[in-house]
Amino acid sequence: MDNRFDILIHVQPWQGLLYNPEQLLDLAVGELGATGITFSVKAAESQDAIALSPTGELLAMRLAPGALWQPDAEQYASTRLRPQTSATLKSRQPAGRLAEVCRDRGQAFRLRLSVLRDAGFAARHPEAVSCNALSLPGHSLCPSNPDVVELVRCQLLDLAGQFEPAAIEIENFTRPNRYRAAAGTAACWPTAPGAIESGLLALCFCPSCQQQANLAGLDAAAALRSVQVRLGHWLHDERVYAGTMNNLLADDAILAEYIAHQRHALLASIQLWVRAVPKVSLVVAKEKTAVHRGTAGASGTGGAGSEPDAIDHLPRGGSPWNPSFEELAGVAPRLTLLIAPNASAHACECPPEGEAGSRVPLEAAIDATSPSFASGPDIVRCLSDIARSGAAGIELESGLHVSPSRRAFIRQAIRAARRERSP
Ligand SMILES: [Zn+2]
Repeated sequence: MDNRFDILIHVQPWQGLLYNPEQLLDLAVGELGATGITFSVKAAESQDAIALSPTGELLAMRLAPGALWQPDAEQYASTRLRPQTSATLKSRQPAGRLAEVCRDRGQAFRLRLSVLRDAGFAARHPEAVSCNALSLPGHSLCPSNPDVVELVRCQLLDLAGQFEPAAIEIENFTRPNRYRAAAGTAACWPTAPGAIESGLLALCFCPSCQQQANLAGLDAAAALRSVQVRLGHWLHDERVYAGTMNNLLADDAILAEYIAHQRHALLASIQLWVRAVPKVSLVVAKEKTAVHRGTAGASGTGGAGSEPDAIDHLPRGGSPWNPSFEELAGVAPRLTLLIAPNASAHACECPPEGEAGSRVPLEAAIDATSPSFASGPDIVRCLSDIARSGAAGIELESGLHVSPSRRAFIRQAIRAARRERSP
């Protein structure tokens, strides 16, 4: 990775179809002052979008889920699967045209790929979708499924080969932490689940997960029974589990092993993807509550109070079936951290240490349309803080979505952040 400090504007899938590349670059670089763009090249779900065109007309579109590029068949020789192309795409190739225009203008160009959340593909391949202990299908593809792992690897090679992005950011690569009801509905249950029950309801017991656990010498059927028994207690007693997931797993070695195996398998898949395309950055969402920078009383791992410009450390204590931040830092060449805007002082903390003790470049991604940035000074201070903290780059999520009335603030903030980093 090079050492340039990029400030990138994130382009949503529908924006890549609704606007032409020149308009996108004129806005992102010309008007906002960014150094490049990141284009989300897959619509994870169906989406309605309403926006103003750069010239002020009202625009609207319903985007069908799926990939926003025409796959190169040669890259999928090792799998019977192909990406499911969005029906809205037709014969267009927005990523190709965006890549070209960025190259011509000397701007950074990246792609972002939703890996496990892929409603278009899931609808066509229900056998690749995760499935919980009560046989309810989940909302994402299961990363224990070897076909899914290989499909993702081929997609990365395909995107790298066709569009030569400076980096590919991978998002939605973890297993869900909690249960999600069918899209657009609420689940019906006699008594509401607590955090633990919701986590148990999200746990994957698809045929792939069970088979792989059994191959590793674990007892998937016993783990499944254990989850079912616990869910039965919850409904029978109308009482949620009072402890933490770690308490529960300390009492249940079989389930703990099953879950640890899933975490390690996911980490191995991520490693495989990173090795296929070394210019990969993992996009990790940071818990909203953990973002505060170390002012008085805040706990921190990086000597928070004494280092006012440090970026806070990452999501700890996530679900035990997903790799920790430290584990991800050990396999990824770069991490993009989605942080919650917090008008007072948010920041990113010092980069995590990778396996070899080296610092993994850490970028901060922040939502440009957040209500906390409704006034200028807040976003200027926020981006300057991040730039001073030593972050490897900044991405403005929904950066193209900001209303014309906010663009001057964003421009000022980007200019200030770049000034912080220029020698
Ligand atoms: Zn599974």
